[in-house]
Amino acid sequence: MRPKIVIVGAGFGGMATARSLKRAEADIVLIDRTNHHLFQPLLYQVATAALSPADIATASRVLLRGQNNATVLMAEVAGIDTAGKAVVLVDGRRIAFDYLVLATGAAYSFFGHDDWAEHSQVLKSLDDALDIRKRLLSAFERAEQSEDPDEVKRLLTFVIVGGGPTGVELAGTIAELARSTLARDFRRIDPQSARIILCEAGQNVLGAFPKDLPAYAAEALASLGVDVRLGQAVSLVDADGIVLGGERIGAQTVVWCAGTQARPAAQWLGAASARNGAVKVLPDCSVPGHPCIFAIGDVASFDPGTGNPLPGLAPVAKQQGAYVGKLLAATITGRGPTPPFRYRNLGTMAVIGRSRAIADFGKFQLKGFPAWVVWSMVHLMLLVDFRSRLLVYVNWSWAWFTYGRGARLLTGQDSAPTE
Ligand SMILES: Cc1cc2nc3c(=O)[nH]c(=O)nc-3n(C[C@H](O)[C@H](O)[C@H](O)COP(=O)(O)OP(=O)(O)OC[C@H]3O[C@@H](n4cnc5c(N)ncnc54)[C@H](O)[C@@H]3O)c2cc1C
Repeated sequence: MRPKIVIVGAGFGGMATARSLKRAEADIVLIDRTNHHLFQPLLYQVATAALSPADIATASRVLLRGQNNATVLMAEVAGIDTAGKAVVLVDGRRIAFDYLVLATGAAYSFFGHDDWAEHSQVLKSLDDALDIRKRLLSAFERAEQSEDPDEVKRLLTFVIVGGGPTGVELAGTIAELARSTLARDFRRIDPQSARIILCEAGQNVLGAFPKDLPAYAAEALASLGVDVRLGQAVSLVDADGIVLGGERIGAQTVVWCAGTQARPAAQWLGAASARNGAVKVLPDCSVPGHPCIFAIGDVASFDPGTGNPLPGLAPVAKQQGAYVGKLLAATITGRGPTPPFRYRNLGTMAVIGRSRAIADFGKFQLKGFPAWVVWSMVHLMLLVDFRSRLLVYVNWSWAWFTYGRGARLLTGQDSAPTE
């Protein structure tokens, strides 16, 4: 009988696993609670109206259409029966497996202040990006109608917490949205007066980048009009805004981009986890004590032998997914043992506004326009299918030459939130 391989999560890791099993003599079931594969690195562009959701997400079924050994199941997993070798869905159904690959990713962590989630937005899914877009655009609409200068100031203050790549990319793009795209579209308010505050508790934005790249990024943000606040942690987030280093900052919009926590696969398995909750895995990405269960991507903590687990990045998830797929194909056909997983670091990048970026390729670094060109080309190539690449390329070209934003419509009854 053909073995059954269940993959949970259709993100970078899960989709790479499924695709690398294309020729395997196995039945593959890919389970995800959404019906799509999402390119998270460009979510901030949906949140800032540069791209539409369909530009960066594709239905998982479409991606696996030509793969006859794979079935897609849109369902949420609630746990795993390791003894009975079955995945348990939230509705109680059980999906049996011979091999299981967990690729459920990570969520944002509020460092024990879960109540802050109620008053801030996060950027992880398409729904999150659309919520932020709605909040941003309706803040300008409401400010245009307000008679109260204090209220206008609060509406046009946008706080981003966390100076990692997502926070920097979002802050830079919101600044450009306010200063360039929206600048001529309003009559009573001046969108250029919007305050964009980026809060980072560390001493640098993009602190994981080497040499002078973090300082360059901070300067580039400042030149876009972003108020970069370093070295102070946010001590409160509530309905009125935030408290930063004892200072109350009134803000209608607070976006939380600080800290992530792996989704709860370690609890499902009763397995050892790292500080961020990720499942500690062996060099072949399997879970200790469970040779038929693998964890990859953001939900896994993989120590390459340095004592520092691999970072939560798309290439890590993709490479681990491709590796586990090959390992399973080899196991099924009885081929010899597969060498341990080795991560090939192809570099890290972050973009600041429409034409500047920083890039670290280990042996050399790039910054400014050349880094932005590389960033654009790499991100276009990494998009999952030709259709997405074409749509994003057209939208980017339009936005680059015109400063325009194609995805500025507000829809739905609550398109102007009251809080
Ligand atoms: C805003 C943002 C920007 C980023 N920018 C970059 C970047 O520029 N470069 C970079 O390399 N990385 C970036 N990352 C990180 C990168 O996206 C992640 O490292 C990568 O997505 C991890 O892949 P994964 O397969 O582990 O998880 P994901 O891609 O997150 O996929 C997890 C999947 O599991 C599904 N899932 C979760 N729980 C369940 C459940 N209980 N049942 C069923 N399905 C479930 C989810 O719906 C999702 O589809 C960014 C992340 C974010 C959020």
